[in-house]
Amino acid sequence: MTHLDVPFSKPDITEDDVMAVARVVRSGRLALGPEAARFERLVADYVGVRHAIAVSSGTAGLHLAVVALGIGREHEVITSPLSFVPSANCFVQEGARPVFVDIEPLGLGPAPEQVARALTGRTRAILFSDLFHQPVDAEPLRRIAEQHDLPMIEDACEALGAECRGRRAGSLGDIGVFGFYPNKQITTGEGGMVVSNDDELAARCRSLRNQGRDTHDAWLSHSRIGFNYRLDEMSAALGVSQMTRVDSLLAARERVAALYRERLAHSPFTLPRIAPTTTRTSWFVFTIQLPGGADRSKVMRALEARGVPTRTYFDCIHLQRPYRERFGFREGQFPRAEAFARQNLALPFFPGMSEAEVDHVCASLETALPSAT
Ligand SMILES: *Cc1c(COP(=O)(O)O)cnc(C)c1O
Repeated sequence: MTHLDVPFSKPDITEDDVMAVARVVRSGRLALGPEAARFERLVADYVGVRHAIAVSSGTAGLHLAVVALGIGREHEVITSPLSFVPSANCFVQEGARPVFVDIEPLGLGPAPEQVARALTGRTRAILFSDLFHQPVDAEPLRRIAEQHDLPMIEDACEALGAECRGRRAGSLGDIGVFGFYPNKQITTGEGGMVVSNDDELAARCRSLRNQGRDTHDAWLSHSRIGFNYRLDEMSAALGVSQMTRVDSLLAARERVAALYRERLAHSPFTLPRIAPTTTRTSWFVFTIQLPGGADRSKVMRALEARGVPTRTYFDCIHLQRPYRERFGFREGQFPRAEAFARQNLALPFFPGMSEAEVDHVCASLETALPSAT
């Protein structure tokens, strides 16, 4: 078989993007300028929320949301262990205890009946992550949250543009967070955005992001203990430029996902499920489930040898060392999440991926599997 080195991920950068960043660098106004405000307006309008607060990363945004909600010691946050580690680190950092529940039988969000059972007097929030290509159906979770007066944090870092029941990801909880790392739907290099319809919460996030300054505070006057989680102007300018073509970026990802689905339709791999509540997909990565009995490490090594890099999105958070050591989590506690995580494999995926590259990945998979079962 021919060898072809396929990148795992690659941002879509145009000459307009480069010029937008260069203009800011030349202007000399590198921080606290108009680009961040412009970027915030574009994302807020796109998501359909009142407020957007640009931050230095998705991780910083999650932390900001947790602090703005007053989550800390003595509190518990209910979430699923199937996500990227910052979606639990964000409140563990503040001393709150992670209460993990298993994922839904068909979806990847926290199973609502398990969430209901996990509630205690110390529960302070519910956090869910929109993974891979679609949002969590948050309706059943919202009913529980409203009954118990709990805020919902939506980790929408992988889901810009995706919709559930006609509503955009990021607006499905009380506070949502996006990430703009180079593998995401749009990128600012490092960067993120907190979104919310709650005026007070948004104001607190703005202040916390900016060293605890309130809008009326002088530069060296601080109304609360905050952070510097601001997004610089170069990053924001790149974000603005990317947002002006977000729908075509999503369409390019959709095209690659459709190619994969077509090429792998009759393969032994389980393809991503699209929930009936998903009214618009937004592909962050394309992942497949290997058939039971397949040795994933062997498949990955065989693919790597053909120039096809893959990743194991995601290893369950409760099985990461600090979570085992600090909280005593162990294997077998969340069987659905663990089984999904064990068999899941993310394939090379980016908007400019060619048909030849998709074909090479699929042909390589076909030859890698038999040697690994
Ligand atoms: C990308 C991502 C984040 C944030 O990542 P940063 O690199 O900090 O921007 C958070 N949660 C999930 C699920 C992600 O995929």
